[in-house]
Order: sequence, then structure tokens, then C-alpha cells
Amino acid sequence: MQKYYYSFKDYLAQQFNTRVHRISLNAGFSCPNRDGTLSSQGCVFCNEKGFSHFAETNFALEEQIGKSMDIFRYRFKANKFIAYFQNGSNTYADAKDLKKKYDVIKTFPDIVGLMISTRPDCIDKEKLDLIQSYTDKYDVWIEYGIQSIHDRTLDFINRKHSAQQFIEAVEQTAKRNIKISAHVILGLPGESKSDMLKTADVLAKLPITGVKLHVMHILRDTKLHVLYEQGGMKLLESQEYIDIVCDWLERISSDCVIMRLGAIAGRDVLIAPKWINLKQNMLQNIELEFKRRGTMQGSKYKGKG
Ligand code: SF4
Repeated sequence: MQKYYYSFKDYLAQQFNTRVHRISLNAGFSCPNRDGTLSSQGCVFCNEKGFSHFAETNFALEEQIGKSMDIFRYRFKANKFIAYFQNGSNTYADAKDLKKKYDVIKTFPDIVGLMISTRPDCIDKEKLDLIQSYTDKYDVWIEYGIQSIHDRTLDFINRKHSAQQFIEAVEQTAKRNIKISAHVILGLPGESKSDMLKTADVLAKLPITGVKLHVMHILRDTKLHVLYEQGGMKLLESQEYIDIVCDWLERISSDCVIMRLGAIAGRDVLIAPKWINLKQNMLQNIELEFKRRGTMQGSKYKGKG
């Protein structure tokens, strides 16, 4: 079967040769953009209920892992697992506390990977050294939220970090044996298609291993929800998103892992657009669009230079 992009599923199959499933975890980390250090507002799109199944539970990490493994073994016949520290900023603590939390994976022999989602301004040498120490036994990733390479957009969405801070974090991380994924949102307020493709062009030159894309969507109880209710905010239609995703993927290297091309959200928190939850349909349409164009991921990649 023709593959139009290098999916995370394909990466896992190549890397581990068995069925591997990612377990989303809530380790109780806060975020400097929420606790008042940088801001108490958070990013305009952020609603932590939109994250893992454990967003609102007090289960210990061991329990979260155990329960998820049972479900994924039964439902997806998974044999091995990646611990995905997802909620909040998962390097926002001192290195000693981080080690205590990450070390929980050592009690589960079927965990083969460690994935840590964080902000580019929540990392330093000591934390990177700690994360690097897991690379001898685990497939280790840091997922940096960047969302857009344009500082004016980062200001608008209240990220409270700059594109340059992201680039510096990537450069520091890439010196180690840690894989880097960049999280990008397409359709952010005020961005044209060429702005979005500029983000692809900049990321294409950086030493990143993967990208995670999704369309901007409105979740309940976020600043974006308030702005959306006030009117005047345009959201991408499904076909527009598909078109931009194909343009975007054509510009990045064919060996860059596509971690995700869409997000889904619970019906209780998703305001708009509702089409995001028809994810399989959207993925099929991305493949059809590539087929129609006769292109694929990397078709227009110009190299790192
Ligand atoms: S940095 Fe992450 S956790 Fe913090 S407010 Fe933004 S999206 Fe939410």
C-alpha cells in the first residue's frame, strides 16, 4: 500500500517490531504559564480536560500505567508501551522531583519508551542530562510545544516564550541522544496559509525527529472560547486543513515522523469545529489529496542547509 507520510505507527512498527501503544499520563505538573510565574491565564487554547484520560483524576502514576496497560492489551493487543508524560509542562520541577516521577517506568518491564511533553523554556542542562540518562534503555522523546514560528502569533496565544527560545531548546536537546518532536497548530488566529508554511520551512531545517499537527479548535472554558463567542474568529474548514497539511508535509523531510495529524476532543469540551472528531475520515482525505496531487511527504523538501 502506498504510504504518503511517515506515521508514528510505522515508526513504532519499524523500531520495535511489535504492537506498541502510548500511555498518556498526568504526573501532576503545573505550568509557569498557569501558576502565575509567567501568567495565570495559560495559552488561549489550553483546557487541561482536553489532555489525557487522567486529566482530572488523582490516580498515582503506577495506577494510571497499570490501568492503561490492561485496557490497551485487551483492546489493541498491545505488547509494549511508551509512557507519555502529557498533562501540563512535564519538566517544570527540579531535576530530583523529575527523576522520581520518570523513574516509575523502571517498575514496568513492558515500557520501552519515555515521551515528555513540555515548554521550550522549562528545560536546562541538568534536566536534559537527566532525560538523556534514560536513552540507554528507552526510546526517549521530548515534545516541545511551539504552535507557530511567528512571535506575533505566540504573543496572541499567550505562549509567553519566543520562537528563538524554542530553537535554542531544540539545539541543546539535539546534542544528546534525545528525539525531538514539535507540536504545531494550524489555523491560529491571524495566520495566513503562507505563515503556516513558513513554520514548516523553519522546522524543516532544525534537527527534529517528529512533528505533531492539528487544527486550531475551540475548547470550553478557554480564552479562545470567549473570543470565539464574541465573533469574528475564522476556523479552518476540513478541506482547507487537508490542503494545508499536504502542503506542510511536502516541505518537511520524508524521515520526519508524523506523530499525529489531528486531535479529538470530548463532546463535553469541544465547541468547534465538530469535524475534528471525524478523524479517520480526515486522515483518508489527506491520503486522497496526496494521491490526487501525485506528491507525498518530502516532495518539496529542500534539505537542512
Ligand atoms: S504551556 Fe501547555 S500546559 Fe501551559 S498553558 Fe500552554 S498549553 Fe497549557
